[in-house]
Amino acid sequence: MLNFTVGPVMSDNETLAIGGEQVPYFRTQEFSDIMFENEFLIKEFVNAPVSAKTVFITGSGTASMEAVVMNVFTSSDRLLVIEGGSFGHRFAELCDIHKIPYTSITPGPGHIVTPEMLAPYEGKGYTGLLVNIHETSTGVLYDSKLLGDFCRRNAILYVIDAISSFLADPLDMSEVGADVIITGSQKVLACAPGISIIVLSEKALKRVYDHETKSMYLDLKNALINAERGQTPFTPAVGILRQINVRLRSIKKNGGASSEIARIKLQAEDFRSKIQGLPFEIYSESMSNALTPLHPVNTSAYDVFLELKDNYGIWICPNGGHLKDTLFRVGHFGAITSNDNDTLIAALVDLQNKGKI
Ligand SMILES: *Cc1c(COP(=O)(O)O)cnc(C)c1O
Repeated sequence: MLNFTVGPVMSDNETLAIGGEQVPYFRTQEFSDIMFENEFLIKEFVNAPVSAKTVFITGSGTASMEAVVMNVFTSSDRLLVIEGGSFGHRFAELCDIHKIPYTSITPGPGHIVTPEMLAPYEGKGYTGLLVNIHETSTGVLYDSKLLGDFCRRNAILYVIDAISSFLADPLDMSEVGADVIITGSQKVLACAPGISIIVLSEKALKRVYDHETKSMYLDLKNALINAERGQTPFTPAVGILRQINVRLRSIKKNGGASSEIARIKLQAEDFRSKIQGLPFEIYSESMSNALTPLHPVNTSAYDVFLELKDNYGIWICPNGGHLKDTLFRVGHFGAITSNDNDTLIAALVDLQNKGKI
């Protein structure tokens, strides 16, 4: 099976080996040291300010999205939510659930956010902005600098869900002035799903400390207190945190975040050059290196997904909802290579020869 989805993706052998080991007891100095190193390397890879802190939540990316909405904001806030696809919509739903007032900016599937779209919200008293910097559902990469400048000008707390963009696209927390960055274990980190990660700036930390959160499991204050000694309040996904450690160390050894981003960029460019001539249209105004969103001109996108899965042993990533027949996505991260791209392209050419795409 060859996996070109957008998570979980294929792990390298070193990461896989950890999955086969016994899970160690974790209230130990040894495990704390792993957690300190994880925090250190995550902060390094997003260029977080020294004063920033990181928490590791046992739960998929959405758990950290919810933890941030609950712990950083209150009903006295007024947020802007970039709602360009299903992940943006998730932020809006979280605001509804937690009764945080918000206004959605809706660039439409495949479209970027422009300065003109932000202009009506300048100086209007908004206090936070939530964005999935790579809207994974349609494959649009927003401009983190443009949004950061807007937030800085308006003294707005800037929250970036970079779950599918971290280590695929350059992201500099200090330069863009982000207050929160969220990522997860099963995207470019290419580990098992189950851990999500939140980096908080000093400004965001102050909000968390001042806030009384109505949750036991997603109380970031408690998580931060425990993180000071390299621990978590409750039993974390110990095995995945060990996998993350192996991956972060290996990325560091190979040149750090910029080398990993360059590797994924090459993988994306290789694929994008090889699909020229096939009956697909690229769906997005501005792509992440993480994936290519494709619209098949002659057939249902979902049928392409089924054909590849059932007859070639290859997974691409289908879309759901109203985009199910319009769009599929091909991921460029995890343990895949240019040769794997060739295998996928050969399958697509075969489908074309059979008149199926
Ligand atoms: C994958 C992803 C998430 C998290 O989804 P989970 O299924 O909860 O891990 C959130 N936001 C974006 C942009 C994603 O790509």
